[in-house]
Amino acid sequence: MPSIQVMSEQLANQIAAGEVVERPASVVKELVENAIDAGGTAIEITVAEGGLDLIRVVDNGAGIEAEEVATAFQRHATSKLLEDRELFRIASLGFRGEALPSIAAVARVECVSAPQSDGLAQRLVIEGGRVVSAGPIGAPQGTDMTVRDLFYNTPARLKYMKSIQTELGHISDYVYRLALAHPGIAFSLRHNGNQLLRTPGNGDRLQVIAAVYGTNTARGMLALEGEHPDYDLRGFISKPELTRASRTALTTIVNGRYIRSFALTQSILQAYHTLLPINRYPLAVLEIGMHPSLVDVNVHPSKLEVRFSKEPELRAFVQETVRACLARQTHIPGQQTQR
Ligand code: ADP
Ligand code: MG
Repeated sequence: MPSIQVMSEQLANQIAAGEVVERPASVVKELVENAIDAGGTAIEITVAEGGLDLIRVVDNGAGIEAEEVATAFQRHATSKLLEDRELFRIASLGFRGEALPSIAAVARVECVSAPQSDGLAQRLVIEGGRVVSAGPIGAPQGTDMTVRDLFYNTPARLKYMKSIQTELGHISDYVYRLALAHPGIAFSLRHNGNQLLRTPGNGDRLQVIAAVYGTNTARGMLALEGEHPDYDLRGFISKPELTRASRTALTTIVNGRYIRSFALTQSILQAYHTLLPINRYPLAVLEIGMHPSLVDVNVHPSKLEVRFSKEPELRAFVQETVRACLARQTHIPGQQTQR
């Protein structure tokens, strides 16, 4: 029998990377979420070749102290989880401390981070989990993360990647959702030199909808708001005549976090019920606030799925709020034409 050994941190990180870093969009997701957690108000994302050649995320947030930059790339190192019991009321986007070490295990990463505006930054280069260089450098406040040659040392994973257009589609979809979830942050997304998205960051969600879906679509949206003892709901839904061929334009945000939820999507679709032609779907951007104890975000490492502890009540509330908004819109003109 071979003897039992503890695997090296490098190997553990590569294995974890298989779960956390599925494709280029996962890297974008983790880096942008870190930028949001750091309080950045302007986040610039630059991508080349669907993210396989280059992913760069620059923020103007809190930065990382020079002596902590290397620590940030260690497994389970996080500044976002202070005690075990806090797992039950997580408010920030990240909390597992797995993203940076996982990304660095399967790519060439350069991190430049400055915690103050005095021009002093720390630069760290890690390739395949090994520190290549570290030292001081000049930079404005914030963090500048560059990820090159994703999966260069895991050829099996690289072979599995789809076309550049497909990978870019996953990236832009995710950045659009984050921009919709955070209208107070100015987002910029560029791919191979083309500007794909620019949002003003002034807090106006309808302007983000216009930037993502176009101004005509933004004009066809209805504002909605609802109150409930456990939940508050606000956002925009499309007029029934403004439909799409797929249900992908339903964006749900819980406590500031973009999430995917079958329950919430179904509630919205059921509210439209007979108002939509067959195989046509509405657009919606709904933000729901609730006490953190009512939602479990610790379900999956990619953290897109959540679990609601009072799901039937939540579904009923969302469906009723959307239905009431649509009823106001469709009934009032109808009554006028009867006169
Ligand atoms: P997590 O986000 O789960 O804490 P990560 O591996 O993504 O784990 O990041 C580790 C730590 O590095 C974070 O907790 C944070 O302290 C720091 N960090 C990462 N990215 C940034 C950033 N853009 N700005 C400031 N700090 C950052
Ligand atoms: Mg993170």
